[in-house]
Amino acid sequence: MTKKVALITGINGQTGSYMAELLLHKGYEVHGVLRRSSYPNTQRIDSIFDPESRKYLHYGDLSEGIDHLLIDIKPDEVYNFAAMSHVRISFDIPVYTLDINAVGVCRILEGIRKICPHTKYYQASSSEIFGSTPPPQNEDSKFHPVSPYGIAKQAGFFLTKCYRNGYNIFACNGILMNHESPRRGVNFVTRKITRLACMIKLNMIKEITLGNLDAKRDWGFAGDYVKAIYLIMQHDKPDDFVVSTGEAHTVREFAEEVFKYLRLDLYKYLKTDDICKRPLEVNALLGDSTKIRETLGWKPKIGFKELIAMMVESDLMLVAEGKV
Ligand code: NAP
Ligand code: GDP
Repeated sequence: MTKKVALITGINGQTGSYMAELLLHKGYEVHGVLRRSSYPNTQRIDSIFDPESRKYLHYGDLSEGIDHLLIDIKPDEVYNFAAMSHVRISFDIPVYTLDINAVGVCRILEGIRKICPHTKYYQASSSEIFGSTPPPQNEDSKFHPVSPYGIAKQAGFFLTKCYRNGYNIFACNGILMNHESPRRGVNFVTRKITRLACMIKLNMIKEITLGNLDAKRDWGFAGDYVKAIYLIMQHDKPDDFVVSTGEAHTVREFAEEVFKYLRLDLYKYLKTDDICKRPLEVNALLGDSTKIRETLGWKPKIGFKELIAMMVESDLMLVAEGKV
C-alpha cells in the first residue's frame, strides 16, 4: 500500500512536532514547512528528522503561501499549525498576526482549491475565539474574541468552513483549548512557571513575575490533543470539534501546584507586574468536548497534576544542563 503523505506547517512548533511523531508512527510520509531562521530552530524535531532525512523539511512562510509545496508534494492531508501563536504579543503586532493567522489560512485554502482540491485540510483553531463568552464553551457557543489573535483565528475558522461548504473541500477546524507539554514555548504561562520555578529550586534566580493570576484555563497535554486532531481528519465527514479536558484551573492554582511539587513556598518568590497583563483578558476557558468524545471516542489521558509533573521533571533536567 502506498504511504499517505502529510504536509505540516509549524512542524517545529510544540504541537506540530507531536503531530509529526504521531503521523510517522502511523506510517505516513511526513513533510514539514520551516521558516528560514538565523539560528537553528528544529530542536523539537531533531530526533525524528535526522540530517539525512532533511529532504522532508522545506522552506516556506504563510506570508506568501505554500503553493510551491502543494505542487511538489501533492499531500493527502495538510495540517496547518503555523501561526503567530502568542495572545499578548498579538497586541504588539496585530497586523502581522492577522496576515499570518487569517490571510495565511486563505492562502493555503486557495492553494488547495486550485492545485489539489482532494487534499484534506486541518485548521488549528483556538478556544480564544470564545473570548468573553462564559464557560463552558462548546461548538454552539458564541464567538466573542477579544484579542487580535482570537479575531484572526475566528477568521481562519470561518474561512475553513467557507471552503468546506463552498468548494466541497474536506476542511476541518479543531477548536482546541490550551495544550501544554515539556515542549511548550517558554513565554506561555505554564512553561514560564515550570522553567522559572526550576531555576529557583536550583538557586539560579530569586523571583518569578507574573500577570493575571485569576485567569482560568482548561490545560491539556499536547500529546493527547494530536490524537484528537488525527481522529478529526479520519472522520467520514469534515467537521468542527472542541477539544478540551473539561477541567479548568486558575494561573494561581497552576503556580501553587508547581511550587508544591518542588517543595517550595510560591509566595516567598512570587511578584506580579502589570507588564505581564494584556489590554483585554479572556477570563475563563473551560471546554465541553462532549461532541468529539461521543462522535470519535476521544478522551485525554493526562490530567492536570500529571501534566505538571511531566513539565517540571523535564525542566529540572534542561535547566540543570543549561539547555533552557
Ligand atoms: P508554537 O509552538 O508557537 O508553534 C507555532 C509554529 O508556527 C512554529 O513552528 C512557528 O515557526 C510557525 N510559524 C509562525 N509564523 C509562521 C509563518 N509566518 N510562516 C510559517 N510558519 C510560521 O505553537 P503551538 O502551541 O504548537 O500551536 C500550534 C497551532 O495551534 C498554532 O496555530 C496555535 O495558534 C494553535 N493553537 C495552540 C493552542 C495551544 O494551547 N498550544 C491552542 C489553540 C490553538 P518558528 O519556529 O519559525 O517561529
Ligand atoms: P493564552 O491562554 O493562549 O493566552 O496562553 P498563555 O499561557 O499566554 O496565558 C494564559 C493565561 O495566563 C492568560 O490569562 C494570561 O493573562 C495569564 N498570565 C498571567 N501571567 C502571565 C505571564 O507572565 N505570561 C503569560 N504568557 N501569561 C500570563
